[in-house]
Amino acid sequence: MSRLDRQSFLGPESDAILGAATIGIVGLGGGGSHIAQQAAHMGIGGYVNADPDIIEDTNTNRLIGGTLADVDDKLPKVDIAQRLIRGLQPDARIVSAPADWHGSTDDLKLCDVIVGAVDSFKEREQLERFARRHLIPYIDIGMDVHEIGKKAYLVSGQVILSMPGCPCLRCCGFITDERLEQEAQHYGAAGSRPQVVWSNGVLASTAVGLLTQLLTPWFANPPRFVYLDYDGNKGTITRNPRMELLKNHICPHHPADETGDPLFDIRRQTFAPRAAPAAPARPVPWWRALLRRIKDAL
Ligand SMILES: [Zn+2]
Repeated sequence: MSRLDRQSFLGPESDAILGAATIGIVGLGGGGSHIAQQAAHMGIGGYVNADPDIIEDTNTNRLIGGTLADVDDKLPKVDIAQRLIRGLQPDARIVSAPADWHGSTDDLKLCDVIVGAVDSFKEREQLERFARRHLIPYIDIGMDVHEIGKKAYLVSGQVILSMPGCPCLRCCGFITDERLEQEAQHYGAAGSRPQVVWSNGVLASTAVGLLTQLLTPWFANPPRFVYLDYDGNKGTITRNPRMELLKNHICPHHPADETGDPLFDIRRQTFAPRAAPAAPARPVPWWRALLRRIKDAL
């Protein structure tokens, strides 16, 4: 019996499939840290984690795995994610990039799925474009809090699955030139947008469910396009009406000639598998070290 026995309904070989899978997580804050934790529980074997930030005091209301000691130690968020994953998957293949994801494109383009848990529309658009270019499914999660009257707030969010050839974030009307422009004008002013742990958890859990549908034999016909709206006040996740409207829509924003790596050169390919970073040695508990010393002395 394996530790994954209770999820064997995901299909034959699902443990091996999940173990062989590599996911990219861009943004290891409130949303991405949930993804890392759940993916490790699920037994996903490979990770490319990218986030330039160091944990701060104000992140501890929602950053899964982050502790107050980590704030004192000024730990990068990717290190916290790595520790979280290793606690469940000691031999996981982890690439941790404490930097902007643009510096990790060589690793990200080898991922089976990329999850974006980033703040800006600009970054989302770039990440989706990158994923499309390399024919990788992209799952976007995000939440926001809107003021809806006197001291009343609406907690909302979205989960979007964007697959090559299918409707994209622009087709959804989620990314528009207007939004990008508004964001550019307010750049730097959105530093302390409200964020809470429970809504991030709902969105991330939904994303991990989608990811599982894509990766395992659980779903005979995995979804090709998903656009879900989260209403944190009502506690509902509903299909955005565009899911039906765009059912047979062909995305005009990512043409086929934008597919592939523009810098690809067959003569420079070695096709040698890259060595995975070694898992750190696990510390020996003090009592075991003591027992060893006693045994050696006898
Ligand atoms: Zn589109």
